[in-house]
Amino acid sequence: MNECVQWVNEKKIEKTINNLQKNNIKGYYAKNNEEVINIIKDIAKEGEMVSVGGSMTLFETKVIDLLRSGRYNFLDRYEENLTPADMKEIYRKSFYADTYFSSTNAITEEGEIFNVDGNGNRVAAMLYGPDKVVLVVGVNKIVKNIDEALNRNKNISGPANAKRLNTATPCAKVGYCMDCKSDDRICCEYTIIKRQRTKNRMYVIFINDVLGF
Ligand code: SF4
Repeated sequence: MNECVQWVNEKKIEKTINNLQKNNIKGYYAKNNEEVINIIKDIAKEGEMVSVGGSMTLFETKVIDLLRSGRYNFLDRYEENLTPADMKEIYRKSFYADTYFSSTNAITEEGEIFNVDGNGNRVAAMLYGPDKVVLVVGVNKIVKNIDEALNRNKNISGPANAKRLNTATPCAKVGYCMDCKSDDRICCEYTIIKRQRTKNRMYVIFINDVLGF
């Protein structure tokens, strides 16, 4: 990445971290995956029960590898050959996790966390249940405001996720949102986290890189 663009991104991350802090959410800037892992080891102690929301970023940053390393009691929703009943159990047990990991659809520079779910399990656990929630976020997810976050979902994350999941939705064909009524619709629960009552329950680790979508 060009160093001037990198600098602009760093300033954006800095501003967002400061505003998250005002909303009782702790932010970090990690320079690489190794720093992400070290920060996580500090937050989530060995032996904790941990769980994850659906996220490409957690694979890209090798967080999933850490969770599978044996250090934690990992409720692994990505384990092979899980039945729908197994998945449901994992989603429900996740409310009891000590630490829940995910990425997010967008974070505003004002320190608000925006998500759109199809199933609701990911946003539900972010909102309530786990004692700690850790979000790993590429700088590409930072937006100015909620309008921009909604646009990001319509034009990037919605269609890209639909393509990845091969859903029978119009966006998976045309590449943009058509506010469908499809049974396969992946945009069902829209949430904005404005603030945490419990200080430092939520942690956001930013990386100056394009991660997930
Ligand atoms: S077309 Fe449907 S599934 Fe696709 S982004 Fe829009 S609401 Fe979501």
